Amino acid sequence: MAVETGVQDTPATARPRAPRPGCGARTAKPTPGAAAGGCAFDGAKVALQPIVDAAHVVHGPIGCEGNNWDNRHAASSGPDLYRRGLTTDLGELDVIGGGEAKLRAAINQAITQFDPPAVFVYQTCVSALIGDDIQAICHAAAARHGRPVIPVEAAGFSGSKNQGNRMAGQALLDHVIGTREPAYTTATDITLIAEYNIVGELWQLTPLFERLGIRLLSCITGDARFQEVAQAHRARAAMVICAQAMGGVGRQLQERWGVPYFEGSFHGLAATAKALRNLARLLTDRGAPADLPARTEDLIAEQEAEVARRFAPLRDRLAGRRVLLYTGGHKSWALVAALKEMGMEVIGTSVRKATENDKARAQDLLGSDGTLFGAIPQPEMYRMLRAGEADILLSGGRTQFVALKARKPWLDTNQERHHGYAGYAGFLTLAEQIDRTLHAPVWAQINRPAPWEVEP
Ligand code: SF4
Repeated sequence: MAVETGVQDTPATARPRAPRPGCGARTAKPTPGAAAGGCAFDGAKVALQPIVDAAHVVHGPIGCEGNNWDNRHAASSGPDLYRRGLTTDLGELDVIGGGEAKLRAAINQAITQFDPPAVFVYQTCVSALIGDDIQAICHAAAARHGRPVIPVEAAGFSGSKNQGNRMAGQALLDHVIGTREPAYTTATDITLIAEYNIVGELWQLTPLFERLGIRLLSCITGDARFQEVAQAHRARAAMVICAQAMGGVGRQLQERWGVPYFEGSFHGLAATAKALRNLARLLTDRGAPADLPARTEDLIAEQEAEVARRFAPLRDRLAGRRVLLYTGGHKSWALVAALKEMGMEVIGTSVRKATENDKARAQDLLGSDGTLFGAIPQPEMYRMLRAGEADILLSGGRTQFVALKARKPWLDTNQERHHGYAGYAGFLTLAEQIDRTLHAPVWAQINRPAPWEVEP
């Protein structure tokens, strides 16, 4: 579908476009020739797009939407409206004449065609610079259509991708959370914050909650329905998984609605056990059955025994292998814990996008032998890998070619990854993926001298 007056619809089967060079505000000032990170719009969009039954309309040039469309593989158990690329496709004439009419038409079309429970409207650099008043348009559209139309004012130039994550959290606090009530509540209702169900990671956790009788009232925002996000304030306890992205939502849930929260992780065995214990404790404090902590201990013991059994064949294959971890946010420490539990040595982890809290945890876990890195220049990363300081690089797609050039194994651990690493099931998946990557026969082949380099 391509409609002149409003929404342009990218089919769900279309491939995402490559990022446009030079596009995007970022955490650190970019240097010429360096790869750029995402902008604030990008951060806001990836944080809200997992609300799967909402329409997400991007008010800007088509490149903004194409830049980040579905690049996180956030999974849905039902609706697929969130995967439609809806954009007003602003062009040169709109820059001169204004794009408000196009935005009105786009919202109307999205509602008429898809009947979503809510519409998120994303500002971009261009619509912000030409002065389109998306607040007023969203307000009028909400009144006209009788459903929430939420402005997300996170123009790309307003900050980094992390800043955009936080702005998305603020949009939820300003316009969504607390606006609806659940059909019923229970004493074991929880909210997970900053869990995006990337490649189905949330579903590695939900069986654990079900075993304990804990109800996931709301997940912000993985596999979420709009109603679920709106009722998050009625949870008895909340857990913030990435404080850098949405720590503010946890704090506000506590301040405005008295929902106690903690920051934690489901990466690694000890972290998963700790998170489950914290949830059980907070819930029991607020009226959950008194046997919940004991049942939690039983579940942890059972799961750890099962992991030990299934991990045993991999233990020797991974033990002592050295990892360079180059990721962001809470993963900078959460994955360190998981890797050390596998018997691997983490020579260093990047804390470029981590909070002070994250940095302290990472250093604690690494001990005196590991290094906290900021941004590692690619030539230096190449040198480290080529010199054999690490056996494998765990990072995002942007640095994969450094490892491949150095002829060293690389595994994707960022949001574009194809495997979930959460909870007990995720621990085993991560171990299996590292094992497969490390021991793939290709490394021996490409590190052998070429035939013309061998003396006859
Ligand atoms: S919002 Fe701005 S920085 Fe972000 S993709 Fe669009 S034009 Fe680029």
